[in-house]
Amino acid sequence: MSEAMPEVRRDAGPAPPLAVLFELSHRCPLQCPYCSNPLALERAQGELDTATWLRVLDEAEDLGILQVHFSGGEPTVRKDLEDLVAHAAQLGLYSNLITSGVLIDRDRLLHLAELGLDHLQLSIQDSDPENADRIGGYRGGHAKKLALAGWVREAGLPLTVNAPVHRQNLEHLEDTIELAVALGARRLEVAHVQYYGWGLKNRAALMPTRAQLERATEVVEAARKRLKGVLVFDYVVPDYYARRPKACMGGWARQFLNIAPGGKVLPCHAAESIPGLEFDNVKDRPLSEIWRSSQAFQRFRGTDWMPEPCRSCEQREIDWGGCRCQAFAITGNAAATDPACALSPDHGALVALAEAESHREAPAFTYRRIGGS
Ligand code: SF4
Ligand code: SF4
Repeated sequence: MSEAMPEVRRDAGPAPPLAVLFELSHRCPLQCPYCSNPLALERAQGELDTATWLRVLDEAEDLGILQVHFSGGEPTVRKDLEDLVAHAAQLGLYSNLITSGVLIDRDRLLHLAELGLDHLQLSIQDSDPENADRIGGYRGGHAKKLALAGWVREAGLPLTVNAPVHRQNLEHLEDTIELAVALGARRLEVAHVQYYGWGLKNRAALMPTRAQLERATEVVEAARKRLKGVLVFDYVVPDYYARRPKACMGGWARQFLNIAPGGKVLPCHAAESIPGLEFDNVKDRPLSEIWRSSQAFQRFRGTDWMPEPCRSCEQREIDWGGCRCQAFAITGNAAATDPACALSPDHGALVALAEAESHREAPAFTYRRIGGS
């Protein structure tokens, strides 16, 4: 009999994340009532400096991250965006600029493309200019977005149009799809508003009826067929009418991390809404350590934290139990099963809430403003 081999223990830790979102600033000239930023927005003086963002790019590349998304707020308010884009390109990171498109002129856009920007995502509030400007709370914004799309084509950058949809713009969805084609977008994200941050605050003003949702789904499915080879569709349905939740962020702390303007590292952009989580800051710890061992990342990573019915559900490694922020927002318990799931004891209440709010007259928007919640 051979001697027993010593047990080899490997603690490789979690696989590296695919992508990081740099929320460079919460400043934004628009005031969208569905904005996913927190109600307590960071002011300019609290933002990380250029040297720190550059160091974090190095750390992201070391960690094995492949994509960096520059977002906000509005990332083009930062004068150092060029430095960050150039550094990401030097490191071989795929870079994406997520912008409202109203602050950037032709020269700056062409320069960013020369520096190595790989992709641009432009948000559109509606196809109707007047309603678009009303929703974004920024007069003349829609026209600026159309101009930017032309410069993106001129620069040869791939363009994705983000179209957040809700009860106050869904009737124009067909025109919004045509607009995305006319702008030369390769991809269109039709995303029913998610109810976190400002979206949660404005839920009653945004929630579509079930009939509106069904009509929107038909419009998207028909356009997907008609525009095959022209436009790729991403379609995000509203959780409140779903039977099963989405795998929010591809699962908590599995693929993605989010760095807030002041340097806090979050598993998702709304995670600060959950009390009891401790967020490390890139000013204090390297990104790799935060990814591996931060309390906020470990709290809902994997499946050990799950209650029933998730714990014994065969979907648990597909949707990872849905969204923790939504569970907290609806039930007051971030470790509860996401109420978007029909197996959750809270699902009926969620659907009833959506039905009731969507049939009431829409209240006025509470526009997103720093210090304005
Ligand atoms: S959702 Fe609107 S307000 Fe929020 S960051 Fe984007 S453009 Fe600005
Ligand atoms: S019970 Fe949990 S794991 Fe199963 S489908 Fe619902 S949310 Fe997903």
